[in-house]
Amino acid sequence: MAPIIPHAEIREKYFFTDILPTPWCPGCGNGSMGHALLQAIHRIGWDPKKIVLISGIGCNGYLTRYLRFDDLHALHGRTPAMATGLKMARPDLKVIAIQGDGDAAAIGGNHLIHAARRNIGITTIISNNYTYGRTGGQYGPTTPKGGISTTSPYGLEEPPFDLCNLMVASGANFVARGTAYHVLQLIDLFERALTHPGFTFIEVITQCPTSYGRKNPGKGMSGPEMLLWQKKNAVPVEKAAGMTEESLRGKIVTGIFIDRNRPEYNTEYEKIRQRAQKGTGREERN
Ligand code: SF4
Repeated sequence: MAPIIPHAEIREKYFFTDILPTPWCPGCGNGSMGHALLQAIHRIGWDPKKIVLISGIGCNGYLTRYLRFDDLHALHGRTPAMATGLKMARPDLKVIAIQGDGDAAAIGGNHLIHAARRNIGITTIISNNYTYGRTGGQYGPTTPKGGISTTSPYGLEEPPFDLCNLMVASGANFVARGTAYHVLQLIDLFERALTHPGFTFIEVITQCPTSYGRKNPGKGMSGPEMLLWQKKNAVPVEKAAGMTEESLRGKIVTGIFIDRNRPEYNTEYEKIRQRAQKGTGREERN
């Protein structure tokens, strides 16, 4: 495993330090997620000028504002659409989409599943804190059944999406889940996702002590307590394969869900474009 780069080095190289601190609450998990991403980018050694971050709506969306990369801030749920357009126009760029669970799986669920289905070469990172943190803690598409929120004060009746399984079924080439607690594993997962061809997806379980932790899962949990909750409840995907649905209730299945090599969309599209340019493609198919 490659070494971790000192925090100060990451900060000086990748952050606009003059506008720090971020607006995140004390104990928020978005900082750990962002740090792990930067460690992975640093380890890979990409030129920052060749990376574009596209953020969505939600607390995690603040991240890109503080980083020394070109970035776009998308409308609600439209991050995959903007990332798709950019990747098609500039396939040479590394396009990284960063979204929250509500933004990605509710408002923009349609865009997300179709980006995965096309298998276009972007990496999507979801900060899943089980709630709409920024708007006050309403329930979202990943809030666990029974979860308490400002819009489900008696407990949520809806079952949650399993985002990783959704992405596997949709066609993504690489799908994995980590947590804000397991930072070393998260850096490795980011590195693998960023360097894998096709649509790659990382779900990060992040703690939101302000909007989710004070009501769930142990009521009034601080950020550090929620991190320990992640530690206690994480189950490697290989072990989870042998467990019952009942015994997995409340657990966080972590690791790599799929690692495959479906053809990448841009590469295939370029072949069609070249056939069309020569005027031969239609005749060949007819
Ligand atoms: S509301 Fe939650 S997700 Fe938003 S900054 Fe605060 S702790 Fe983080």
